Amino acid sequence: DPSLLKREDRCRWVIPPTGAMRVRGVIYADRDLILGMDDKVRVQLSNVASLPGIVGDAVAMPDAHWGYGFPIGGVAAFDADAGGVICAGGVGFDISCGVRLLVSELSAAHARPRRGELAEALFRGVPAGLGSEGAITLDDIDMTAMLNGGARWAVERGWGRPEDLPRIEEGGAMGGAMPEAVSEQARRRQRREMGTLGSGNHYLEVQEVTEIFDEAVAAGYGLERGRVVVSIHCGSRGLGHQIGTEFMREMLLAAPGFGLHLPDRELACAPIRSELGTRYLGAMRAAVNCALANREIVAHLTRQVFARMFERGRLSLLFDVSHNTCKVESHVVAGERRRLHVHRKGATRALAGGHPDLPEDLRPYGQPVLIGGSMAVGSYVLVGTPEAERAAFASACHGAGRAMSRHEALRRFGGRQIQDHLASEGIVVKSPSTRGIAEEAPDAYKNLDAVVLAAEMAGLARRVARLSPFACVKG
Ligand code: 5GP
Ligand code: MN
Ligand code: MN
Repeated sequence: DPSLLKREDRCRWVIPPTGAMRVRGVIYADRDLILGMDDKVRVQLSNVASLPGIVGDAVAMPDAHWGYGFPIGGVAAFDADAGGVICAGGVGFDISCGVRLLVSELSAAHARPRRGELAEALFRGVPAGLGSEGAITLDDIDMTAMLNGGARWAVERGWGRPEDLPRIEEGGAMGGAMPEAVSEQARRRQRREMGTLGSGNHYLEVQEVTEIFDEAVAAGYGLERGRVVVSIHCGSRGLGHQIGTEFMREMLLAAPGFGLHLPDRELACAPIRSELGTRYLGAMRAAVNCALANREIVAHLTRQVFARMFERGRLSLLFDVSHNTCKVESHVVAGERRRLHVHRKGATRALAGGHPDLPEDLRPYGQPVLIGGSMAVGSYVLVGTPEAERAAFASACHGAGRAMSRHEALRRFGGRQIQDHLASEGIVVKSPSTRGIAEEAPDAYKNLDAVVLAAEMAGLARRVARLSPFACVKG
């Protein structure tokens, strides 16, 4: 109901603080997206805004939709000095789920005609599906090394390239991981899941750069029209899910002891400065490393397929960015620089050009912001802007966002029909699950162009290139 929101700007809608809210909520979206947005986003954002130690605004992105506790497409920052909390539901179940983009030297004119063979080879080369297992089995020592080392560990083991590391957030490995805080059960679930895509919304997509919006930045990123690129979207598999589940439960049980009055059980959290908060952060960072290692290995398997199929099948990493994290970052709030715990759940970090955390060769341009849409429309590459720092702690949207639940999508769509329809449009989709394809029906998502345009108008990120799919492996 837009009457409960105050429109401040074309793409900025404010929820003024009422009741227990400590800060205001802000939703970045145009009018149509607001009208189509689940009202639960507003309710959930108001709840997030009432958590202890929150600073700035509680933010929702144009792709936002209802999630567990936090909306998906939510950003919130907390100050430990002000009693700030860490919230497992503010990171999500698939810790460090994210996207990486690999750029090839191939032209789509060359690769597109072989899309059937390519999709088949990728489907065989990269395990996908619920509980899918890979060729790698980790013993406890390897597991601990992986949880500390992330993509660096994968590279050391020969499942990746050293030149990838600067192109991955945190240089490929997040510091402060506490493998000892990761349960036996979480480790067991991950023993055979490295280098696997997982199920449902996760994908490996071969795409063509079909549109360029910013020539200079696109050139800096190595993107030109007609070029083949590969998007990989996956996360921390069973390990991250197990950690999320365990800590949500533990935080809920511990809340009364911390004197926390939760507006919603799903917002169970712990003070950043508590044993539980510290332990969650340590386990979460270990799960981030698991996701970074996993995407590095999935990329390695993808590279093997490309090397086998194409003479010039080399793939170089443009960037790898997570969209389910909590990171300690420095931001200016009301003129004061503060160290904050920034939760991004279904939201992408989006650093502007010049930021010291960017690798030197990307620093002149800004961070690539990688956004998925659907298996029909593909993806966008955007670039971070200086305005995003003020608007959303340097964050942007992460996708088109769901327009309906998986359940509703299953009721409305058939996986086979979608596959056939896409095939007739020149897009080959391979998946172990036709049901999964129905749940991920392109029409179950919002309009990607509208979401991306709203993000741009809100100043969160600027469009660089559009990527159109021709072969997609879905989990
Ligand atoms: P999430 O991480 O929230 O599960 O998904 C991120 C985004 O990926 C979704 O909001 C959706 O727009 C996008 N997406 C889902 N499936 C596909 C796909 O098969 N291909 C592409 N390019 N994007 C997808
Ligand atoms: Mn995920
Ligand atoms: Mn994701």
